[in-house]
Amino acid sequence: MIKEKIKNCLEENIALWQLETNSLPKINFDQYTYETSNLYVGKPDTEGRIQWHYAPANRVLDFSKLEMEYHVALPQDLKDYYNAYFFLELNGFIDDECISFEPLDQIDDVLENLEFFISGEEDEKFGTTDFIILGTYGHKYPFGISKTGNGQVVAIMEEDKEYVLAKSLCELFARLKIANPRLGWYSVLTSMEQKQDNSDSFIGGKPRISANIPLPVCKVCGEPLTFFFQLAFPKGHIWEGKSLAFFFCTSTYYKHDAQEWFPPRLLANDKADVPIEALDSDSYQTLFRVYFFDTKDGVLRQDYHEKVMYQRIDWKAGRRRDKKVPIILAGEPIWMDSFQRECPKSCGGKNLELVLQIADYFNFEKYPDAPPEIRRSFQPRKENNYTLFCDFNRIFLWGIDDKEKPVFGINVQSDM
Ligand SMILES: [Zn+2]
Repeated sequence: MIKEKIKNCLEENIALWQLETNSLPKINFDQYTYETSNLYVGKPDTEGRIQWHYAPANRVLDFSKLEMEYHVALPQDLKDYYNAYFFLELNGFIDDECISFEPLDQIDDVLENLEFFISGEEDEKFGTTDFIILGTYGHKYPFGISKTGNGQVVAIMEEDKEYVLAKSLCELFARLKIANPRLGWYSVLTSMEQKQDNSDSFIGGKPRISANIPLPVCKVCGEPLTFFFQLAFPKGHIWEGKSLAFFFCTSTYYKHDAQEWFPPRLLANDKADVPIEALDSDSYQTLFRVYFFDTKDGVLRQDYHEKVMYQRIDWKAGRRRDKKVPIILAGEPIWMDSFQRECPKSCGGKNLELVLQIADYFNFEKYPDAPPEIRRSFQPRKENNYTLFCDFNRIFLWGIDDKEKPVFGINVQSDM
């Protein structure tokens, strides 16, 4: 029975929130729905979030008129879904990819919404021909159930390609892995002078790394690498106590060949193990360099002349699926390209995990006296910032769960 499976998911969601945050599930406060919905509990908190609780729908909607008028037969479990529970948010994973259901509340007119889909009016807006849409898959693709088909749950990817998620809605709920509300940490940036700050996590300025680490040079062109950022893994992270510093060559377009702009592709789509030699830092880290060290050993390196403008980073624990967040630690990958879910499996037999991701279209402001980045045309870039790999790409950094012998690999994705 689908009703029971939905309830299990909603209960699991509550249990995770209780365990991780000692509260009921929370969503962003919205005045309009607050006034019309019965699902809210209490008042909004200081961050503008409010608790909610699911409720049984206690209704039997009659779909027969709709089915007769449009000559469709809706799958029984879809009908049962609409008659099961009201909820404001449901996020989880299907086969490691994230999925989010649209809220289902008493105030929604299900029959009217369904008529939109079935009549085809909704299709023109979303390009989702033939589907009743239930939510979002992989952060950006609508998913739903075919109006005419066999009850399969399908995501509609680029160029309207259909990707079957489950044989039925019931099976989807049975396989749904509920997302932990504290999945990852997201960055909050504050511009200030580095002199007035002693944060362990920041973008730009001078690095705060071990005194005995040499300032790195580019293996391709021999120029000193530019310091981009460093991150201290927060309390509760598996690498708590460690820091990571990232350097990159801003002479990229000037002296590098095209094939050297990006790190070698990780073996990702075939789920094969990446040999440990492939990620050996001396050969793999060419135009970039990642240092990994005990946070307590970091000292401000006066021998480095800063190029990237300083911004303090504060970490907030929580699941943020916002692709505009500059840096996300751990959490779930927000893929740019739906068919390139480049999630590498393991390296030398050890699981590779997502260490961090950097937003696409996020560039690094530079100081006025710092040299400009050189474009492919050999002209200086006019923008007052540096790009990391390219200005439009999203960057994923993977590492093994072994903080004493860390191994890193990078994927760069774009939707161009
Ligand atoms: Zn270089």
